[in-house]
Parts: sequence; C-alpha cells; structure tokens
Amino acid sequence: MDQKRRTFLKVAGISTLAGLGAATGVGRLIGGAESAMAAAEEAQVNASAQNGTGQNAACGDACINRYGMLIDARKFREDPTLGERVVLACHREHNVPNIPIKKDEIKWIWMTHYDNAFPEQANLYRDEVNAQFQLPILCNHCDNPPCVRVCPTQATFRNADGIVMMDYHRCIGCRFCMAGCPYGSRSFNWSDPRPYIDSADMNRDFPTRTRGVVEKCNFCDERIRKGLLPACVEACGDSKAMVFGNLNDPNSEIRQMLKQHHTVQRNPSLGTLPSVFYIV
Ligand code: SF4
Ligand code: SF4
Ligand code: SF4
Repeated sequence: MDQKRRTFLKVAGISTLAGLGAATGVGRLIGGAESAMAAAEEAQVNASAQNGTGQNAACGDACINRYGMLIDARKFREDPTLGERVVLACHREHNVPNIPIKKDEIKWIWMTHYDNAFPEQANLYRDEVNAQFQLPILCNHCDNPPCVRVCPTQATFRNADGIVMMDYHRCIGCRFCMAGCPYGSRSFNWSDPRPYIDSADMNRDFPTRTRGVVEKCNFCDERIRKGLLPACVEACGDSKAMVFGNLNDPNSEIRQMLKQHHTVQRNPSLGTLPSVFYIV
C-alpha cells in the first residue's frame, strides 16, 4: 500500500473519526471514544486486507452484480442544460430537499468543475475547456467503500448489486461515514428536511428523511429493481451522456463502452475502487 493510501485510511479510519466522535457525542452511543477508535482501527485493518480482485469484505460473495455508471463529460459540455436536468430528475425522484443555506445543503448528484472532481489531475495549466465546464458527481458506489467499514450500526451497507445503500432507521447520525468518504458524497440533515420539499413535486412512493440522518445517491436501487434506468440516466434521453449497467457482465453496454473509451475514476490512488467512470 502506498503512503498516500495509508495516510488516507489512517485519517479516515482513526484520527478524524475520533474527532467527530468527540464532537457529536457518538462515543457514548457506542461505548466511548476508545471503542470507537478501536472499531475504526479494525475497519482500517479490514480495508487494508482488500486484495484488489474486486471481492471485498464489505460485500464479498454476497455481491452478485456490481452496478456502475459511465459519465461522458463531453456531452455535458455540448449541452449545458443537461446538468440541471439530471440533478432535477434525481432530486425530484428522491424527495431531496432544497435547503437554501449552503452549509446545510443536501445533494445526491451535483455539477462541479473538473479540478474539484479530479484533484489528482489538477494543475496550474488546465486546458480552458475543462476549466470552464462542469460535470456531474455523485456517490461512486465504491467496490472498497470506507464509509461502509466505519459505520458502527451497519446503517450503510452494500447490497447484492454492489450498491452502497442507506438504512435511515439504523442511522444514528454519528457522521463517521462522512469522515470516511473521501468524495464528500454524503449529506447530513441538520434540520427536518420535509419543509424544504416542494409538496407539488413530492414523490409519494419514496421515503422522506428526518433530522439527524445521513443520505446520498442510492443508484436508484428502487428503480432498477423495477427494470427502470436511474432517473438521471433517463433524463439524458438517447444522448448516452450517462450509461448504467452491470460491471460484472462482460456483455453489458457499460463494459463494452469501457472497452472502447479511455476513462478515469475519481481519486483512484485511494484504493476505494469507484464504480463511476468518466470520459473527459
Ligand atoms: S463515494 Fe463515498 S459514500 Fe459513496 S461508496 Fe464511496 S466512500 Fe461511500
Ligand atoms: S450511516 Fe449513520 S450511523 Fe452509519 S456512520 Fe453514517 S451517520 Fe453514522
Ligand atoms: S443514480 Fe439515481 S440516486 Fe444516483 S444520482 Fe442518479 S438519479 Fe440520483
């Protein structure tokens, strides 16, 4: 393991979590700060044991599929309205509140600049095209997800499709997972989100959340189980700006496209093995 990964795991697994535990009082909930640190240390060891084969302790044999996404950033440059459409489609589908206070924002998918999405690639002389345009980012549904390993209640877990899910009822709001995620893909509900959901837009078939729980993109698990595409992918129409499919199936469209194009993942050196790929 290189030094960068070691440092990340250490920071995500121990130091930051201990700080958060103290800040939130969660240490009391799981038996004190020391046991929180011991749990985080064990998580770090488990994460270190990941062998790079695609199997990992967070899911192992239970993962039958590994769903993934390919995002073609070029399409988002060609059509600057596309970004807004995918964000709206996701947030409407999942009753994501529109909280105007920046620090309290809840985001499942959002647009950002290249250098924010790919800090490892950032340099002073970034080409103008990538410096100017934005691309969508979301949870990477990592194959080696640190967020899952550090959750003390298994409120976040990988399902049989390799999707990193949330069980809102088990979430105690400790935010260990937020410290563990190196992509900022998770949001915390500092207040009751329901007043910030436009009732005219509310999806009555999807649960709303409560104050004190974490939420994030669920790869539209509820839709794919019905044979539908994720809402953001559907919002792209036939453009192929976003392609979704099973990475474990060599014949899937996403696997074929990954074969044909040069793609990048976000912060690959951290060893999280993101399931979201980008053509930039
Ligand atoms: S992007 Fe973050 S929240 Fe999503 S699976 Fe990876 S570590 Fe977990
Ligand atoms: S999912 Fe909830 S319980 Fe688990 S680490 Fe995150 S905030 Fe804590
Ligand atoms: S996959 Fe579904 S939950 Fe995730 S960003 Fe797209 S629409 Fe939202």
